[in-house]
Amino acid sequence: MSADCLFCKIVSGAIPSDIVHRDQQVTAFRDIQPRAPVHILVVPNQHIASLGEVDGAEPAVLAALFRAAAAVARQAGVAERGYRVVVNTGADAGQSVAHLHLHVLGGRALGWPPG
Ligand code: AMP
Repeated sequence: MSADCLFCKIVSGAIPSDIVHRDQQVTAFRDIQPRAPVHILVVPNQHIASLGEVDGAEPAVLAALFRAAAAVARQAGVAERGYRVVVNTGADAGQSVAHLHLHVLGGRALGWPPG
């Protein structure tokens, strides 16, 4: 846990959020500023700053992130029509919270490539 990390505070419950999935390894909650009808963030419960920092992470945590992304997409009803999983990493990608998170986006046709 990192003391001044927003998503660590959401994981611990110190900051409220709309949690849709939680297990030993990961927490998933609705994005506060949704970019699609379904926009859910999946984060590791332990603090990992970005995709660039996953080398020391337990493989089980990384597997749990992707399993949870697929599970919340099914739960939200977008698995059949399709959805996108995005990991913004670093400034050029627009990463604004330094705690690894998978965006799960769906519920409308998504443009490609992203702008
Ligand atoms: P990124 O820009 O890839 O780092 O994504 C960070 C995401 O966190 C953005 O889509 C924000 O809308 C979202 N976000 C910021 N604060 C909160 C919050 N308190 N609860 C839920 N989502 C948040």
